[in-house]
Amino acid sequence: MDTSRSRELFSRARALMPGGVNSPVRAFGSVGGEPFFAQRAEGPFLFDVDGNRYIDYVGSWGPMVAGHNHPAVRDAVLAAARDGLSFGVPNPLEVTMAETLACIVPGCEMVRMVNSGTEATLSAIRLARGATGRARIVKFEGCYHGHGDSFLVKAGSGALTFGVPTSPGVPKALADLTLTLPYNDFDAATALFDECGADIAGLIVEPVVGNANCLPPRDGYLQHLRALCTRHGALLIFDEVMTGFRVALGGAQERYGVTADLATFGKVIGGGMPVGAYGGRRELMEQVSPSGPVYQAGTLSGNPVAMAAGLAMLGLVQAPGFHAALEAKTNALCDGLEAAARDAGVPFTTNRVGGMFGLFFSSERIDTYAQALACDTKAFNRFFHAMLERGVYLAPSAFEAAFMSSAHGEAELDATVAAARDAFRIAKG
Ligand SMILES: *Cc1c(COP(=O)(O)O)cnc(C)c1O
Repeated sequence: MDTSRSRELFSRARALMPGGVNSPVRAFGSVGGEPFFAQRAEGPFLFDVDGNRYIDYVGSWGPMVAGHNHPAVRDAVLAAARDGLSFGVPNPLEVTMAETLACIVPGCEMVRMVNSGTEATLSAIRLARGATGRARIVKFEGCYHGHGDSFLVKAGSGALTFGVPTSPGVPKALADLTLTLPYNDFDAATALFDECGADIAGLIVEPVVGNANCLPPRDGYLQHLRALCTRHGALLIFDEVMTGFRVALGGAQERYGVTADLATFGKVIGGGMPVGAYGGRRELMEQVSPSGPVYQAGTLSGNPVAMAAGLAMLGLVQAPGFHAALEAKTNALCDGLEAAARDAGVPFTTNRVGGMFGLFFSSERIDTYAQALACDTKAFNRFFHAMLERGVYLAPSAFEAAFMSSAHGEAELDATVAAARDAFRIAKG
């Protein structure tokens, strides 16, 4: 496989951009080697600058749930762009977007559009703090909520201790306000709320964890978190940046029948444009400026081209049977991969929820972050490169979920399993 143009671009990029990229995971640091540069994308495929084609299970990290460069999205963007790229006054597409979200997302009575998932989550916790008058927030080990200061925090030593920054530049004083819990542990959450529930403004969770590989909630876990938050007057915030419009039309709130106080969105909601949103209960959202005192603003928020892309994408996922078909493809692929691994004698298992899934080099069923950490990442890295050489692009890290799109057909799924038959043998080492 010729990758000379990508290699040349990466060396130029590294000279002028930190790590050669504009977002860290793209640098392939976790799997080793060098990233490829995309020229274009179509349906289930990415094409690199050297002319290689890849079946893509990253989908721009989630937005491309209907496949790349979908004509409906592309045409909506081109049409909107013809009328102007940004107005700085309200535009009608913002109203349509708010009405669409209120219609398809449970509990989304009001919404504010922003420009990224990061912006959505940091705005949501500001609102939680502003609305409750409390300072502490709770997050889960292994969950990612963007790069806001309050989220770049891991557990200190021992239960119920202050959080520790995971990045220089995050003040300890702020990290002290973030408490962390192990995901899917019922008792740890109960104990934390018993200890300091009255100080907790909100608990934020990826309802299906997609940033520590893919970890579905244990039966009743999200209901348990809902009950704890209600009992202690804390807000439950579902970070649905990844799960939104992907695990079901109405996201995890619909799939698991649990309504959060606030939910955050990104990725699919922008159809590939930089968009995020947060929304929820009316009396909470009315606390946001200018109707309320909690300040939050954005020069390009509700941008007409971005709204056009998002609305077109949301139109596609509202097609009857969209999510059932997506889930059937995910299951077919994961079953095929598990069978290929068995034949190769490789300990391997998958988790699947709707249009997202996770690959684990382990013989156990995985549903905690600690278990995900204990998987054989070296085997994953060998598998990743063997798949890439065979034209299949998986996320370049053992701790990222994979994404199915409606554009993946039987031929692509079969080709992926065929590539995996070789790749599992290579992964064995
Ligand atoms: C990607 C992601 C974010 C951050 O979104 P950006 O648009 O990258 O800022 C936040 N939360 C979750 C669950 C995500 O997957």
